[in-house]
Amino acid sequence: MPEIAVKMVNRFAERLARDDLQLRRARPEILQVNVGKLCNLTCVHCHVNAGPKRKEIMARETIDRIINWLDKTNIPVVDLTGGAPEMIPDFRYFIRHIRSLRAPRHVIDRCNLTILLEPGYEDLSEFLANNKVEIIASMPCYSADNVNAQRGEGVFDGSIAALQLLNSLGYGIDPQLPLHLVYNPVGAFLPPSQDELEADYKSEFKKHFGIQFNNLYALSNLPIGRFASYLRHSGKLEEYMELLIHAFNPATIDGLMCRDTISVGWRGEVYDCDFNQQLGMQWSDDTESKRLFLWDIDPDSIENREIMTGDHCFGCTAGAGSSCGGAISSPS
Ligand code: SF4
Ligand code: SF4
Repeated sequence: MPEIAVKMVNRFAERLARDDLQLRRARPEILQVNVGKLCNLTCVHCHVNAGPKRKEIMARETIDRIINWLDKTNIPVVDLTGGAPEMIPDFRYFIRHIRSLRAPRHVIDRCNLTILLEPGYEDLSEFLANNKVEIIASMPCYSADNVNAQRGEGVFDGSIAALQLLNSLGYGIDPQLPLHLVYNPVGAFLPPSQDELEADYKSEFKKHFGIQFNNLYALSNLPIGRFASYLRHSGKLEEYMELLIHAFNPATIDGLMCRDTISVGWRGEVYDCDFNQQLGMQWSDDTESKRLFLWDIDPDSIENREIMTGDHCFGCTAGAGSSCGGAISSPS
């Protein structure tokens, strides 16, 4: 059931209207596919409520329909997310087919790192390197205590070992094998300066573990999924919302990921972003009578379409902003 978005008043839409701002789609550049909710971890901040017992995963038939659709477009990037996207049985099938299209597309894997060391996945990092898959990996802190508190006991050590493995294959070193890390706060506060954090991560990882990576993306936690439950149970949900609302930065609007990304769910349904996906804000046709799937839409006709918003959108526009590629602008 949608959480924040079902409130009668959409404070985000009101805020945009007050500043005479509009949030509409630009040309699609990224197809972000959430292949399911299955994951080997159960992180506290997870907006997907992912975990080892989740059964929702993308079927091969859906993958084939997505590939067919993609082949007819010129969208250059496919961004695979989850859950742990690597855990669906057809993960490699999906990547091989994307890479062997007449016009091969760039592939991003949003990886939790620890999956690379799980039994049965031993050759996965080599597969990713051979297919020139860019890796964007979660790493919420360079301190073991913070990472383990948010993601589970032992996750820090596993993540470090996985990063060392990726470096040994050239990730973060070879320009064809980009390796980016994602920071998100361990509580109900906004990320600090992305540039300063990146410099700290780089020096700490190099000094203590000999690890190299390309960029650090600082993301805000959106008040949905497991993070919203955590806020609600600790009585901090409205306080966090107020923090986000007060930090609204209009300069972030043009760089929001929902402007150039099409988000697809494990059944092929379409959304403006992965957050809207978790809130069930699926696209409908003009008459609002038919819910849309990827194969129902023409990517050339969605430019200027109004983006569906809710209070959770304040999480993307607070401070320096937050998008799939990290901060969007300087804090206002
Ligand atoms: S945050 Fe990522 S790694 Fe953690 S449970 Fe959710 S999907 Fe899995
Ligand atoms: S949650 Fe963020 S990315 Fe999604 S529609 Fe709202 S502003 Fe855009």
